[in-house]
Amino acid sequence: MSTEGANYERERAAAVEAVAEAALLCQRVQARKVAGAALTKGDKSPVTIADFGSQALVCRTLARHFPHDAVMGEEGSAELREAGHAALAREVCDEVRVQASGASDAEVLGWIDRAQSEGGHGRFWCLDPIDGTKGFLRGEQYAVALALIDRGVVEVGALACPNLAVGSAPGCLLIAVRGKGVQLLPLGANGPGAPQPVRASSCRERTTARIVESVEAAHGDHGGHERVRAALGCAAPPVRLDSQAKYAVLARGDGEIYLRLPTSADYRENLWDQAAGVRVIEEAGGRVTDCDGRPLDFTTGRKLTRNQGIVATNGLLHEAVIAAIRSIRAP
Ligand code: AMP
Ligand code: MG
Repeated sequence: MSTEGANYERERAAAVEAVAEAALLCQRVQARKVAGAALTKGDKSPVTIADFGSQALVCRTLARHFPHDAVMGEEGSAELREAGHAALAREVCDEVRVQASGASDAEVLGWIDRAQSEGGHGRFWCLDPIDGTKGFLRGEQYAVALALIDRGVVEVGALACPNLAVGSAPGCLLIAVRGKGVQLLPLGANGPGAPQPVRASSCRERTTARIVESVEAAHGDHGGHERVRAALGCAAPPVRLDSQAKYAVLARGDGEIYLRLPTSADYRENLWDQAAGVRVIEEAGGRVTDCDGRPLDFTTGRKLTRNQGIVATNGLLHEAVIAAIRSIRAP
């Protein structure tokens, strides 16, 4: 496609712009403390005004820069279009208009609906407009996560983490292009600052390795993680935080191991929950596989149907972690 740049410079710039804009909307909604769950989806997960608004703004930016690209996003506008949800739809549209002045309701809902791609083997963007909605609702960590996937390869990953402080800035944005490293941009109320390179930790020592895991016990097997920690001999208990901010923490060298052992045999991860984080951690020198040590297969539609669970590390400790998982599972 003519829009595809070989070095992904245009995609990188569009991704930074898109997640930074969406982060501003999320910060505004969270600061007003009107971020209560607006709806509960069929899978019982909460969704807020900011989830819809973030998706609208990201899709708007992508449509401007890459009008022919497919987008896979977590949300859709079907529920907003129901008669009983008119007030909610209005709130979403008004919030989006703070940054997209003059946009009609139809345009806003249309942007949300641009993200209906089923993915597969071609080129598509993959978006979680608010990863870690439960963290967002608690006033804790969340991320706007955007990746560009082409032929199963995550080429670009962008993570805006508005509550993951760096220096005097309340948040940060990480942007990674395959083969080109990862940069961290401080993220404040006025958008992103100057980029600086980051690297995963150089720790090879299991006893001092730091583990991160989900806050939500339903999203990762805390008991299993504890057994892996014991098998490895890591001294410190896991640090819990929501969202792909866990990948950001590892990419900054503030942790070595991210464990996400499945809580049920049939759960499969959503692409948008991992894609951006994978590019970010790999560009920092880290590694990501499933719990069996297999690479993630991003060609399987909206879910990682060929993989179970996630293990991300600084790279140096990866084999040891996979071996530890194998050891705790051995009969
Ligand atoms: P985290 O903030 O790391 O706990 O992950 C949040 C993501 O977990 C959400 O975006 C959900 O898509 C995803 N999720 C929902 N149910 C599960 C589950 N049973 N196992 C793993 N992840 C889940
Ligand atoms: Mg998510």
